[in-house]
Amino acid sequence: MMKKISQAIVVTDLVKNYGKLTAVKQISFQVKKEQIFAFLGPNGAGKTTTIKMLTTLLKPTSGQMLVNGYSPLTQQNQVRRSFGIVFQDGSLDDELTAAENMEYHGALYQVPKKLRRQRIKELLSIVELSDRQDTLVKQFSGGMKRRLEIARGLLHHPKIFFLDEPTLGLDPQTRNKIWQYIKGLNQKEGITIFFTTHYMEEAEKMADEIAVIDHGQIIAQGSLKSLLNQTSTKSLEAAFLTLTGSTIREESASALDHLKTMRRMQRGRKR
Ligand code: ATP
Repeated sequence: MMKKISQAIVVTDLVKNYGKLTAVKQISFQVKKEQIFAFLGPNGAGKTTTIKMLTTLLKPTSGQMLVNGYSPLTQQNQVRRSFGIVFQDGSLDDELTAAENMEYHGALYQVPKKLRRQRIKELLSIVELSDRQDTLVKQFSGGMKRRLEIARGLLHHPKIFFLDEPTLGLDPQTRNKIWQYIKGLNQKEGITIFFTTHYMEEAEKMADEIAVIDHGQIIAQGSLKSLLNQTSTKSLEAAFLTLTGSTIREESASALDHLKTMRRMQRGRKR
């Protein structure tokens, strides 16, 4: 008989170097099955790098990981079948319709045709896109695209859903709606949710467990209540700032510099 595992994710002493930069510095943490887990940190903290290693997209420098009991290093196929993902930069094909994007993904994951059709219908209805299934994705708004990506990520019945800033740039109405679907999936289908966000109120409302990463190290982990206790604060935003400080990270500073240069160039052109 197979041993039943209670952890969806187990990470031990995980390290990732990019040349001389150590982006992830020997982190260890666990995510329980059916939990909603928030992975928070300032820009450049190492969140995406960690997600990429867990989802087999990036090889760690050292350390161990288990995703649904499988190793992303040696059991890539099993791991890939067991999770769904929505990434920061969307990966839909703009020249295909919503239904075609779903079909393509289902075929890639070898979901049998009949089941695929049924599941596509169900999922498009959950994210309220049934009436737009034959519309080309390039005609979709940002919020519609994100909803479609969520539906697509769920097509092969994953046990874990990774969401890297799923609500970035969306209006409050769409953000609320997206969280309603995610919460529903967690409750109805028992899917483990691993997400990152810079909107602290989302993590505050949704997460069962929160880990804070900064400069590649996990500096706090626990329930909202325990993080508030540890930092003697009253909101997650205050706790986060107490833990991570208020200096702007290099990445955000350089993005800002880039924006300023662009503005200067545009002004120059107008003159
Ligand atoms: P954000 O909130 O801005 O998305 P993050 O927490 O997801 O940030 P990562 O993208 O994991 O951060 O980046 C961690 C560090 O590794 C940063 O210093 C980043 O500049 C660096 N980094 C990320 N990808 C690469 C790469 N391919 N090559 C070199 N350095 C990289």
